Amino acid sequence: MDLSDKQLLKELVDSSLSAKNLQRRALAKLITLLESTLSAHQSRADAILNQIIPLTGKSFRLGISGVPGVGKSTLIEALGLYLIAQGHRVAVLAIDPSSTVSGGSILGDKTRMEQLSISENAFIRPSPTAGNLGGVAEKTRETILLAEAAGFDVVIVETVGVGQSEIAVANMTDMFVLMHLPNAGDDLQAIKKGVMELADLVLINKADLDQAAARRAQSMIAHSLHLIGSFPSQGDMASKWQPQVFALSALKQEGIAQFWDLAKQFIAGQNKTGAFLGRRQKQASAWLTEHIEAGLKLKFREHTAIANQYPNTLEQVRSGQLAPSVAARQLLAIFHSNSEKVG
Ligand code: GDP
Repeated sequence: MDLSDKQLLKELVDSSLSAKNLQRRALAKLITLLESTLSAHQSRADAILNQIIPLTGKSFRLGISGVPGVGKSTLIEALGLYLIAQGHRVAVLAIDPSSTVSGGSILGDKTRMEQLSISENAFIRPSPTAGNLGGVAEKTRETILLAEAAGFDVVIVETVGVGQSEIAVANMTDMFVLMHLPNAGDDLQAIKKGVMELADLVLINKADLDQAAARRAQSMIAHSLHLIGSFPSQGDMASKWQPQVFALSALKQEGIAQFWDLAKQFIAGQNKTGAFLGRRQKQASAWLTEHIEAGLKLKFREHTAIANQYPNTLEQVRSGQLAPSVAARQLLAIFHSNSEKVG
């Protein structure tokens, strides 16, 4: 590890009061290093991750998702300021699938979380814009670790409610919260079932606009969640968390403390049953598997003998001369024998 990386690392973990701005700057620089696709940068980032790993894992990782306009940034600002007033330090990371497609961004274009962003106890990082969703999500997982090493004890990962990004966020957080509008209760079809199943908590935001509609949405969604939820066996009936539905107003800052209480209750329950650790372990092993598979795929694609043979084999498969399964076995055999010689 070179001197400048050592210096950055020192600044990252220095949480003394006078060093907070330096610390946030170091965090931002290290995230930029993580996000780089240059292999020299990746090995520097790996060395840094190795150093900080003992300092990670101690935050509450909270995932928040919802369609554009539902009030995510308003809620995160209100919650963040509330938590900071209680002595927490809050990092907000975003995964924005739109930025990978268009280069523009649903989450990043407007000025968001103005008050929170100026607090020295907050760190806000917009979505990285390069790469595919897998790449973006992968960097976010590593960014969580850096933020934890810097002493942020609540890490909020935010995403827009479109596409695969919710699954990515649910798979890297301790609690996944889905935000909803009050009128959406009438139109439950709008909620993708798969996403609903991921939610540990559904928030009906903008309850101030129409209390009755919010209550209606709350009971309809609660009803549908219980239908979706698997029925726990008698033994863990008491310990199993039933997804909750809660109405609040992010704009009026009504219900923020109650929401946080629910989140704490959730974590306490999960801790008691061991589900918290189980979820983290499952996520870590899935992360390992994904990386190995991604690495193998890349190696396969970049393999010279495969690259030479692939177009031919593909043509034979497309024209029906060769069964796909047989073709796959043949290609894998080529890959295997050549890799063994190299290794
Ligand atoms: P995001 O796209 O999900 O981040 O949504 P924003 O937080 O930017 O909110 C979109 C709009 O809804 C803004 O004009 C907010 O002021 C407004 N908004 C957010 N929360 C509430 C709420 O609880 N009540 C009302 N009436 N408006 C809200």
